[in-house]
Amino acid sequence: MPLTLALLEREGGGLELEKLLARLDATRERSPWLLCAACEQRITDNAARIPIHDQHEHTVSNPHGFVFRIGCFDSAPGVVEDGEPSTYWSWFPGYRWQIVVCQQCRWHLGWRFDNDGDTFFGLVLDRLRLERGF
Ligand SMILES: [Zn+2]
Repeated sequence: MPLTLALLEREGGGLELEKLLARLDATRERSPWLLCAACEQRITDNAARIPIHDQHEHTVSNPHGFVFRIGCFDSAPGVVEDGEPSTYWSWFPGYRWQIVVCQQCRWHLGWRFDNDGDTFFGLVLDRLRLERGF
């Protein structure tokens, strides 16, 4: 039985579960941040890396021939959207893309992809760097 269910079925288990979840949150906070390589704004963290189509990293090119090496992330609290969503030349069929920029320095860091609420971020890996000390 999963630990969370076992805890819920015991008396007082709800409180233990809350403590456990708080500990998991604390663990996640220690995951290294990925910073904007230009201004060091916190963009996302290592634990937010996810695979899309079985791969975290994708090498993609736009209609102008620019090549990007992007990583997929389930969240990116340090970016803001810029411009309108579009389906033109989407690297992930079914997903609309929207440019995202660093919320502090406005550098173009990647794209937010959305397919009816199924959302992820594709961030240009060369434009991020790992927090110092990791
Ligand atoms: Zn920045």
